[in-house]
Amino acid sequence: MLKETFQRKTISFYRYFYLENPQEFRDNIFHDWFSLDCFGRIYVAREGINAQMSIPEHHFETFLETLRKYEILDGIPIKYAIEDDGKSFYKLTIKVRPKLVADGLDDGTYDVTNVGKHLSGIEFHEQIGKENTVVVDMRNYYESEIGRFEGAICPEADTFREELEIVTDLLADKKDKKVLLYCTGGIRCEKASAYLKNQGFKDVNQLHGGILEYARQIKSANLDSKFIGKNFVFDERLGESVNGEIISKCHQCGTPCDSHTNCDNHGCHILFIQCPVCAEKYNGCCTPECAHEKTSGLARSKENRIGFGNSRKYRKSLSLIREEQSR
Ligand SMILES: [Zn+2]
Ligand SMILES: [Zn+2]
Repeated sequence: MLKETFQRKTISFYRYFYLENPQEFRDNIFHDWFSLDCFGRIYVAREGINAQMSIPEHHFETFLETLRKYEILDGIPIKYAIEDDGKSFYKLTIKVRPKLVADGLDDGTYDVTNVGKHLSGIEFHEQIGKENTVVVDMRNYYESEIGRFEGAICPEADTFREELEIVTDLLADKKDKKVLLYCTGGIRCEKASAYLKNQGFKDVNQLHGGILEYARQIKSANLDSKFIGKNFVFDERLGESVNGEIISKCHQCGTPCDSHTNCDNHGCHILFIQCPVCAEKYNGCCTPECAHEKTSGLARSKENRIGFGNSRKYRKSLSLIREEQSR
């Protein structure tokens, strides 16, 4: 890799389709792409493909030809990385998985290829706020709490499965309305839109390329963002601000804050929002109990660990807890 004298392009693509034999398909594309020195991380399932790749520039045309070879890959929309040094991957990994996005549903429950209408960032922007339109955030609650589209429905879900159920319930009397779905990069909505169509929703639309693509298009068209707050991305930055507004609160004292952190008691490690003042006061922990455990070195027994090693386990905000208590 270090000795390479040619340039590479970083791309990504995904699509839902139906595959009889994912392993055989995986072996075929591995053979094609390995011989072209392609690198990347690709997942193949009975329900489709999700790929991030780096392709040698001098093989790019030949690579596109390999896509045309397979009916299910022909004409697949390819996204090109914006900031690209071409050094995103160092080998080619193609894994067969049971599912692309875990929805907890059996195969064949609904047609995953019957997806909603794709809207560009600009089209989505224009539809928001119109009459007879509902906007739905298909991400988990820890993501929508700190950033969302104006007026969006943000279900209190921790998993995609939960999300699908809650959304279907919440919109039960809105099956004739125009539904606008969005998520971080678009792939969740492929599935969610197919699911909702199967549930009888008539006009299902989705933001193509997700919030990431929306932010890019809005910026280049010089429009005011209708996405307010931070877009939660799971890397070391834990969120990039789209319009600089803070719409969430510290889970401990309620002051405006949008920084997620994990409880510093390693027996807990739960994900929550904490302001700098509370971080100091509780020694980086989610509760006085955790702060005590951390300093006393009392190890919690395995059974009592809430979310050890699971940084996505989310602690609900104070307002949600209060609402629940008052019910
Ligand atoms: Zn605080
Ligand atoms: Zn804790």
